[in-house]
Amino acid sequence: MGDDVYVVGHKSPDTDTVVSAIVYAKIKGYIPVIQGAINEETAFVLDKFGVPVPGELGSAEGKKLVLVDHNEATQAPDNLDKAEIVEIIDHHKMNFNYPDPIAIHIEPVGSTATILAKLYQDEVSKDKALAGLLLGALLSDTVIFKSPTTTEEDKRVASQLAEVAGIADIEAFGIDVKKSKANISDKPIKDVVLADFKDFDFGGKKVGIGQTEVVDINDVYNRASEIMDFLKDTKTKEGYEMLIFVATDIIKEGSELYYAGDKAKLEAAFNTTVGDDSVWIDGLMSRKKQVVPVIDKQF
Ligand code: MG
Ligand code: MG
Ligand code: MG
Repeated sequence: MGDDVYVVGHKSPDTDTVVSAIVYAKIKGYIPVIQGAINEETAFVLDKFGVPVPGELGSAEGKKLVLVDHNEATQAPDNLDKAEIVEIIDHHKMNFNYPDPIAIHIEPVGSTATILAKLYQDEVSKDKALAGLLLGALLSDTVIFKSPTTTEEDKRVASQLAEVAGIADIEAFGIDVKKSKANISDKPIKDVVLADFKDFDFGGKKVGIGQTEVVDINDVYNRASEIMDFLKDTKTKEGYEMLIFVATDIIKEGSELYYAGDKAKLEAAFNTTVGDDSVWIDGLMSRKKQVVPVIDKQF
């Protein structure tokens, strides 16, 4: 193993994953890396604070890694078994096995950025760019505090970060962040579904759950047939037991769930009648808190 330590977030990187890798690497003198291209939202946040996009990790083989914003093997780099994991910082449920004792820091807060901001308050309070990046990531993951994953800690930390970053209106900044990737109309449907997509192992079955956030759900309804074709096709080709695409309207505060797989499982999970292609669930904002646990339970 080399001496360099790489900080890496999950596949289909979101803003929290990329920012957490950048900030933790900066504080510790490690190297931030990503797995896959960043989305427009992340590009907007990095650009705003003049921070370059991290390089790709490539193969994990023989590398020392810190995992941020995930601890699920299916979302981690390939060849993880040939890497040395030195630490995990995350805000997702624990789903990790490792033969050696390592440092693991998991807190039930709205973003990994929140945890880093709390742990490294001194460093962050002196660095406008770091504070701005963390605030962008926190607002992204908590959907501007509308997600049920939001805690009082997130709100408190956000105010501190905004002060350091010189952002007067947190809400307005959050909407700027969210709007930057909300336009799906000119994108291939594959990119829309896979932009924020996670693979899970539920009782030995492969389940994939994608999510997008829009400011008008009609943009998604207009592309329903394309979404369904893609889900059905991918389920067959990639051997998924179930595929779900969660289209969240951040203004209406609810989601249309499209799926390919067993309707009965979805009806049992959400305790409601489900259409052949999709169902609207009022108040559903969070994949982590409102989709993953109830679907996992069905397997
Ligand atoms: Mg994430
Ligand atoms: Mg996160
Ligand atoms: Mg997320």
